[in-house]
Amino acid sequence: MTQATKPGWVPQGIPPAEGRNGAGLERQRAWVEVDPAAIATNARSLCRHIGPGSRLMAVVKADGYGHGAVTVAQAALAGGAHCFGVATLGEGIELRRAGIDAPVLVMGCLSQAEELRSCLQWHLMPTISGMREALLCQNLARGHGRAMPLQLKLDTGMARLGADWQEGPRLVAAIQGLEAVQLVGLYSHLASADLPPGEDGGLTRQQQQRFESVLTSLQQQGLDPGCRHLANSAGTLGSNALHFDMVRVGLALYGHRPASHLGTAMALQPAIHLHARVSLVREVAAGVGVSYGHRFHTSRPSRLAVVGIGYADGVPRQLSNQLEVLFQGQRLPQVGAITMDQLVLDSTDHPDLDVGSVVTLLGRDGDEEITPADWSARCNTIPWEILCGFKHRLPRLAANTH
Ligand SMILES: *Cc1c(COP(=O)(O)O)cnc(C)c1O
Repeated sequence: MTQATKPGWVPQGIPPAEGRNGAGLERQRAWVEVDPAAIATNARSLCRHIGPGSRLMAVVKADGYGHGAVTVAQAALAGGAHCFGVATLGEGIELRRAGIDAPVLVMGCLSQAEELRSCLQWHLMPTISGMREALLCQNLARGHGRAMPLQLKLDTGMARLGADWQEGPRLVAAIQGLEAVQLVGLYSHLASADLPPGEDGGLTRQQQQRFESVLTSLQQQGLDPGCRHLANSAGTLGSNALHFDMVRVGLALYGHRPASHLGTAMALQPAIHLHARVSLVREVAAGVGVSYGHRFHTSRPSRLAVVGIGYADGVPRQLSNQLEVLFQGQRLPQVGAITMDQLVLDSTDHPDLDVGSVVTLLGRDGDEEITPADWSARCNTIPWEILCGFKHRLPRLAANTH
């Protein structure tokens, strides 16, 4: 490696920036604090919940749901996870580059020979949806001296990836006839497991039955498809009958329940805390319009606090006038439109809040807590989208409070 020369505008004596905002500046404006101990604890609780007959796959796609994939993966391993699920090849390679050597399943669809070749090189398992990909793998792996492990996905009612479930037994037999590939798993994905019982139109039950009928048929033919798995977080928490040999858990690993009726007996710990700092405090008169479009007007002489975080950091603009933040165990309302880089709080009733004060947008402060589900309920989305909506500009830092 050649030594990078410092551009002339870097001041003398300043060490190279380590974080995205520069060394030592990570906790200045806004940041996400990630608690690996919470992830490990959640993994342990999930392992206890599924029991010894089933294994835990930690789903760490989308940069570990915004928490940082490698941090999450290491914590999940410490908590008893057996393997990892990612969506893309790049996500799998990131884990390998970090020295993680547990099995990794790429759950997205790799349709090109080049992608499948990379799987072979990086020891990542691809998911295939039919013979087309199976034959591509067979061609690539032939002559490698080692069969290429892969998993077959069946569509039991999601109509996304996977082969039609009725084709399952035939496909398993055909793939097992290829000498350069090794079928190590068979799985499907639930479409509505987060809905309360009776509200999914019987879909989860139907998907389970279809999956089981394939397994029964394979058993009758003496075929072993390897690891059998069906459940996401909702399925894992919803019914033990969905656990099979392994469960693929994302959301619950990060400490959030996929629906309020699920996992109520399990103490899941949110692993993410979103903080930002007050950068300016101003006194304004009654009747002042605040932020773009004046979507809020002060009803009394007010004290407004500007916080340096906005939708370019991942705070949904749809939460304008609906967001709350925590300070000293109390809730403060956000007022007016949330802008790209700033938002405004009404701190009239909170005189202790001043320039430099740190507020909590997500997480706990005293007896109060704000969760991704609180946000998603107010802006018509789901907690999953909130978590993976945090942008590159927000530093991810290890929580220093444990
Ligand atoms: C993302 C994903 C999961 C994890 O889903 P959660 O609801 O977050 O637990 C499981 N399986 C597949 C195939 C996925 O794509």
